[in-house]
Amino acid sequence: MKIAVIGEIHQDGWEVFRKIDADTFELFNFDEDKLKEQLSDVDGILLRTAKLSNDLLSHCKKLKIISRHGVGYDNVDLEFLTNNNIALGITSTSNAVSVAEHVLTSFLYLSKKINLSDKLTREGRFNDKSSLPNFFELYQKNIVIYGFGRIGKAVAKRCLGFEANVYVYDPYISKNIIEENNCKAIEKIDGIKLADYISIHLPLNKNTINFIGEKELAKMKDTAIIINTARGGIINETSLVKALQNKKIFGAGLDVFEQEPPDQNHPIFNLENVILSPHNAALTLECRKRMAIESAENIAFFLSDKKNLNLNNIVNKNKLKL
Ligand code: NAD
Repeated sequence: MKIAVIGEIHQDGWEVFRKIDADTFELFNFDEDKLKEQLSDVDGILLRTAKLSNDLLSHCKKLKIISRHGVGYDNVDLEFLTNNNIALGITSTSNAVSVAEHVLTSFLYLSKKINLSDKLTREGRFNDKSSLPNFFELYQKNIVIYGFGRIGKAVAKRCLGFEANVYVYDPYISKNIIEENNCKAIEKIDGIKLADYISIHLPLNKNTINFIGEKELAKMKDTAIIINTARGGIINETSLVKALQNKKIFGAGLDVFEQEPPDQNHPIFNLENVILSPHNAALTLECRKRMAIESAENIAFFLSDKKNLNLNNIVNKNKLKL
């Protein structure tokens, strides 16, 4: 079997392919014409963040599975894959914890302004501590989570450890499940008004694009902090920048952007009430190893007798002719 790995993965993923003696190769050049040629006879593709168009995929005549190194799959067209009987794999057990820890880091960084305390101390201004702006606790604050899937649940669990009040908006998850997880269900706009902290964990699709825009930002508390580690575009960036410039909200954390990488002249880079990262919330060493192994195993097990395949990882399993 022939397998292409598009983008860099941890060595542990290559170990999986070595064990099954697959013919594997690595690609770093995402030029579409070149890819059409290089992928024309592959059985499987392990895919990081490159976008694969339907036109390109229609040249992959032997392709049976694309396995995403991650859980989001907005860089491929699921309907096209299903119509062409190509499985789509994700690494569902790998990255919730690392993204959740990133969310808590962002909440705490923005609330405690720890960078200012560090700077003051280094400058020998130890006794100047009362010159620092107020900083805040998570204890007994209202944290509202949008999207209660793998990552939303992991964030909730960690926020409960801080003894915060955790609210959830996810119309696809029953109130019982939300309550079993010691959270309270809330309507979208009620959560916007009530929140001291908001964390977004939705997929990006036509229903969630601009999920948070000018209208929602206008209703938020001016002490509120919002974090997006899901996908750029779920929060409208232009409206967010405006709200941050006008101090309509207290702060924001973005790991994901409408355009990645963002333009170097993006106005968000001039703001101090934000913390930014290059779409690496999931990229702890531990998680990179897990994602490399899980995405490689999806391909290895799918292309063999499927006995060890984690079917929960195959997004379109119910619609494929297996
Ligand atoms: P998931 O599929 O487990 O959970 C998504 C949840 O969103 C589901 O419970 C679903 O019911 C809910 N949902 C869908 N549409 C909704 C809507 N319109 N309103 C409210 N709720 C809705 O996904 P996950 O693994 O928790 O991932 C969440 C997001 O995080 C995805 O966008 C994914 O791409 C992104 N992600 C980012 C990184 C990163 O490195 N920054 C890493 C992993 C995942």
